[in-house]
Amino acid sequence: MSIANKALILIVDDQPSNVYALEHVLKADDREFVKAMNGEEALEITKTNEVDLILLDVQMPGINGFEVAQILKSDTRTSNIPIIFATAFSNEYKFVMKAYEEGAVDFLFKPLDPDILKAKVSVLLKLQMQKKELVEKNAELHKAALLIDNSADILGIIDAETLNIEGVNKAITSILGYPREELRGTSLQSYLNIESRSIVEELIISGQSELFFETGIYCKDKSVKWLQWKVTVKDGKWFFNARDITESKKAEDEIRLLNENLERKVELKTRELRMMNLDLEKRAAELQASNIELERFAFVASHDLQEPLRTVSGFLSLLSLETEGKLNKESDDYIRFALDGTQRMRDLIQALLEYSRVGSGELPLEKVNVNTVVENTVKLLAPLIQEKNAKLHCGPLPIVKGVEAQMQQLFLNLVSNAMKYQNGQTPQIEISCKEEQDNWLFCVKDNGIGFDPKYADRIFMIFQRLHDKSEYSGTGIGLSICKKIIERTGGKIWAVSEPGKGSIFYFTIPKTEQKT
Ligand code: ADP
Repeated sequence: MSIANKALILIVDDQPSNVYALEHVLKADDREFVKAMNGEEALEITKTNEVDLILLDVQMPGINGFEVAQILKSDTRTSNIPIIFATAFSNEYKFVMKAYEEGAVDFLFKPLDPDILKAKVSVLLKLQMQKKELVEKNAELHKAALLIDNSADILGIIDAETLNIEGVNKAITSILGYPREELRGTSLQSYLNIESRSIVEELIISGQSELFFETGIYCKDKSVKWLQWKVTVKDGKWFFNARDITESKKAEDEIRLLNENLERKVELKTRELRMMNLDLEKRAAELQASNIELERFAFVASHDLQEPLRTVSGFLSLLSLETEGKLNKESDDYIRFALDGTQRMRDLIQALLEYSRVGSGELPLEKVNVNTVVENTVKLLAPLIQEKNAKLHCGPLPIVKGVEAQMQQLFLNLVSNAMKYQNGQTPQIEISCKEEQDNWLFCVKDNGIGFDPKYADRIFMIFQRLHDKSEYSGTGIGLSICKKIIERTGGKIWAVSEPGKGSIFYFTIPKTEQKT
């Protein structure tokens, strides 16, 4: 058809008056005309135009109408154009009709009858248009068929009532293994697994026009695949698209299994951890109970040891007075050693009593001004400081939560150790404190003999001493008392040292009160 959907009619006549007359008679809104004065011109026009009908004069100079028609019929592009011959000789009619039995060909005899002309042109044009439409529809159908057959999904039609398969594309064979013909006329239900059959039955009853569902379906080789269905229900048919989701379903199943396993493992581990926690809590409680028991025992034992010790040392002193100058030197020495021993035992008992008193939890934490504590320490240790000519420097100190008497003991132990563990030089002692985010960080530094850093933890254990008592007297309890005092506040204590390079004792006290 020509531009704007108008039918294009080619009028071929060597007489311009005939052409004019024909155009005039056939003129209509839905028609257009092209004209040719001879056969050659007509053939030229058909090459570049999509002509819908040709009115062809038979008798023309050059190639005549029949010859033109023959050339047109021999070319597939133009062979279907309907032709109406206009001729003056009726005997030509039969001959030509024979030659063109197949095509749309008609005859008009001159002089032309306008009504017959109009009628014939209308009929042939209508036929031509319908033919064209059919060709177009066929081309579309062909494309659709190609698309359907190339689809990776299964496409098809099923009877909505019987569920009999009416048609499917090739994908059914590649996915499920059945030849298409084998399925035609059989029921979908006979291929589905049991659960899927009931799903489909419910869907039929639902009466919905769009259906989405998944089914397990048996393949030709009896294995099961999973299809995801999308169905449009129309005119008693299911027009469906079924996608193979077997792989993703498998992956989903695997993930679900892995998740279930993981959850089970997490649950088991949580239960195990809970049990371990309970066990630890139980052990901590047991440990605390046995610590309290031990402290009580240490207190009672040391307290009860004092009395017989007093008796022994009292009688030893009396014996020493009685026998002074009367026994030989050796015996005098024995009595002296025994008296020293009782003194040492008294010191140890005293220290043990002090140790067992700390951390009993009976004394509540209070605000303690550490400046005052250090001032008192200096006062209490004044004779020793004077004797050793010790120099003590102290920076500003905070107010902390603690037990004043215990803080006092802490500083007494640290400062007296700092003066004690010296090698003849003037003791230089520095006390300072730094504020941290959650703690106060204290530091007591000396210029004494120091110690091997590998014993940094050991010195805080009860009765552990690094230096011989003949050189440096002591009981080995002082630092373990300091540790207890600091831990009661929720803090920590540690030491940094090197032999001959002095020692630094650090301890922290939390800013907020800790639970005891
Ligand atoms: P004592 O001083 O009664 O022996 P402590 O518990 O106070 O007991 O100290 C334990 C050990 O730690 C000491 O015997 C000593 O070896 C070592 N020590 C403590 N303070 C210092 C210090 N300032 N310098 C070097 N060594 C120290």
